[in-house]
Order: sequence, then structure tokens, then C-alpha cells
Amino acid sequence: MIKRKVLVTGGAGFVGSHLCERLLKDGNDVICLDNYFTGQKQNIVHLLANPYFELIRHDVTNPFYVEVDEIYNLACPASPVHYQYNPIKTMKTSVMGAINMLGLAKRVRAKILQASTSEVYGDPQIHPQTEAYWGHVNPIGERSCYDEGKRSAETLFVNYHKQNNVRIKIIRIFNTYGPRMHPNDGRVVSNFIVQALQGKDITMYGDGLQTRSFQYVDDLIEGMVRMMASPETFRGPVNIGNPHEFTILQLAELVIELTGSKSRIIRLPLPSDDPMQRQPNIDLAKKELDWEPKVQLKEGLIKTIEYFTATL
Ligand code: NAD
Ligand code: UDP
Repeated sequence: MIKRKVLVTGGAGFVGSHLCERLLKDGNDVICLDNYFTGQKQNIVHLLANPYFELIRHDVTNPFYVEVDEIYNLACPASPVHYQYNPIKTMKTSVMGAINMLGLAKRVRAKILQASTSEVYGDPQIHPQTEAYWGHVNPIGERSCYDEGKRSAETLFVNYHKQNNVRIKIIRIFNTYGPRMHPNDGRVVSNFIVQALQGKDITMYGDGLQTRSFQYVDDLIEGMVRMMASPETFRGPVNIGNPHEFTILQLAELVIELTGSKSRIIRLPLPSDDPMQRQPNIDLAKKELDWEPKVQLKEGLIKTIEYFTATL
């Protein structure tokens, strides 16, 4: 088998580390690029002994030169707490990062996949969300640096394809959780598990009736790899998520049950522009990629709780 050279930007992050692991297991030569803003060496330290794994500290807002066959562009903080910390940098990472990686793909004729997000749908008025929905995004709100950054990146991808024939793939990822989320990441699954394990109050924002559809990381990785391998004519965007929808209150109760924690659920103010509902329609992924998620919430939470129990 000929080894493919694959670049993963944001490879030391939560999703990126699982992707690097999978790509190595599939026999590829993997270059992991990261500036460690939200990622950690800890996530990929077990891969360092593999001679086909290479780790490079680099910021995607700067040009990068390498010869590769495929690029997975994941570099970007994903948690609202982290992407709102420096909103200008978040937009630069999405937009300049996309331009730099697309320029690279164009020069070396690599295939390139963009990790886009359900956030391009904003606070959706259509439920569940299909790829045809244009979204409902506040361009000047707290989330806009991320939402509009990711929307611009999609625009850049589509136009690099139209104008320069770059082989592109766009996936829209819905809320994903699993081992190697940062304990201080700020996203709901890691927050609730860490709080439950430490016997702290579970911080539910608002009335907890807002919904999310949670996908276990292994399912996402399978979807990403299938998308990259799919026929060139299928460029997406395609939703990759688990359509099983839960309220945040249900999630809090399930985490308490599975950890056997004595933590109380407390209410804190709902952050502005927090989407009320989110659920993917995955018909397109089923049809084009023969993909659907396999891991249900309880099973995935048990694995994630095991991880945090061992690492906290
Ligand atoms: P993460 O924060 O764990 O990983 C992002 C990685 O990108 C980190 O390792 C970080 O250090 C790196 N990074 C950030 N800015 C960078 C820069 N300028 N240059 C180089 N590296 C940089 O988040 P994640 O959950 O692993 O998300 C990975 C990708 O998937 C992101 O693009 C995110 O937008 C997308 N996504 C994730 C989810 C989810 O639920 N996890 C949902 C939708 C989209
Ligand atoms: N949330 C919460 N408590 C927390 C963290 C998040 O109630 O400690 C809520 C948040 O307001 C949102 C949902 O959980 O409604 C998902 O938040 P997250 O930051 O994980 O991702 P989002 O889907 O909002 O980007």
C-alpha cells in the first residue's frame, strides 16, 4: 500500500488527536500541526514514538509549506469560552487559516477537508437542520467571530474549488464529545462530567430546556474519513452529527446518574445568542457516505466519564 501524506491542522486538539490516531492506524504518514492554543501535547504524546507521525508547532494564520496528499483543516478553538477569549484571533484563524491551507492545497494539488460546524445555522428557525438551510446568525453577537469565521471559510472553500479547481470537502460537525476534551474546555459535556466527579454544582445555563444532539467522537472520525474518501464530485457541505436530541437538563440528570454524584444542578444565566435547538438531518450523509452514528449518548458518556475519572 502507498502511504498517503496527510496534514491535520489542530491535530493536538480533542477531535484532531483522535483523527491523527485513526489516520496512522489506516497506514498513513501523518503531520500534526498545532499552536497549542486549546490543544495539548498530552493528547498526542502516545503517537510520538510512531515514525510516521510528525508534530509541528505552527499557527495557521501564517503560511505553511509542505508536500502532502490530503489536508484536514481543524485548527480553530471550538468551545464558546475559548473562541470568545480573543474573537479577532478566532476570525483570523478561520479565515486566514482557510486561505493558507487552501493555497497550500492548490499548490501541491492536495484534497482538503474543512471542519465546519452546525454553528453556521446560528439559532436555527428550521428544525432539524438540513444542509439547504442558510442559517440564522447574528453577525455582531458574541458567537459571530466563530459563526461568521466558519461561514467565510466555507465561502473560501467553495470559491477555491470554482476558481482554482481545488478538490474540497466540507463537513458541518454537530456537538461532539468524548475522551481528551480539555477539562476546562467550557463545553457542556466536559463541564458537567468534571463538576459531577468533583462533587461541585452542575452549572445549567437558563432553564435547561435548550436542546443539543450529542455525537461521540468515534462516530465523527468515521464520518470525516469517509467524507475524505468519497467521490470527488461530492464536496458537501454535509452534516455529521447524531440526530438524537436531548435537553441540557436531561444531560445533567444523566451525568449525575452515571457518575453516582451528589452534585446539585444550579441555574446560571443563559449566554446571549445561545441557540435554543440543534438537531442535524443526516439524510445526505447516509445517502452519500453510507454513514450514521453508532454510539448512543449513555454509552459514549460512560467512556468519557472513565477517561475523566482516570485523568482528573
Ligand atoms: P479543540 O479546541 O480541542 O481543537 C482545536 C485545535 O486547534 C487545538 O489543538 C488548538 O490548539 C488548535 N488551534 C487553534 N487555533 C490555531 C491556530 N491559529 N493555529 C494552529 N492551531 C490552532 O476543538 P475540537 O473540538 O477538537 O474542534 C476541532 C475542529 O472541529 C474545530 O475546527 C471546530 O470548529 C470543529 N468543530 C468541533 C465541534 C465539536 O463539538 N467538537 C463541533 C463543530 C465543529
Ligand atoms: N451549557 C450549560 N452549562 C455549562 C456549559 C454549557 O448549561 O456549563 C449549555 C449552553 O448554554 C448551551 C449548551 O449547554 O445551551 C451547549 O453548550 P456548549 O458550550 O457545549 O456548545 P454550543 O452548542 O453552545 O456551542
